[in-house]
Amino acid sequence: MSKQESFSVKTHSTIDFIKIDSQIQKIVSDSGVKDGACIIFVPHTTAGVTINEGADPDVMRDIEKELNKIVPFQDNYSHAEGNSAAHIKSSLVGTSEMVIIEKGSLKLGTWQRVYFCEFDGPRNRTVWVRII
Ligand code: ZN
Repeated sequence: MSKQESFSVKTHSTIDFIKIDSQIQKIVSDSGVKDGACIIFVPHTTAGVTINEGADPDVMRDIEKELNKIVPFQDNYSHAEGNSAAHIKSSLVGTSEMVIIEKGSLKLGTWQRVYFCEFDGPRNRTVWVRII
């Protein structure tokens, strides 16, 4: 049994972390699957997906700040499009996550939320979800 879905995410700034667990949970609920797993895949080369704390927004601010230190926006990159920092951050963060589905719900830790990670916004983006 498998069911694939997708949804759109509108990002608002160059770097933006947007909680997407409610959209994913809706797809899980609509699927009727009670026990399984959910793959969340971001089909973009300058965006990603990560799971981290949802309670204190300073956590994602700190992640943004430190990612910008590790990968500066300007560093004599070769890629002519001028967005190499975004490509590198996408590879560092990754473009997929897998979450357990238990009793029809995403099984996340108490403080965990799923974040869409924009690194070259603002843009309209897509997230693919596959329930297995
Ligand atoms: Zn590029």
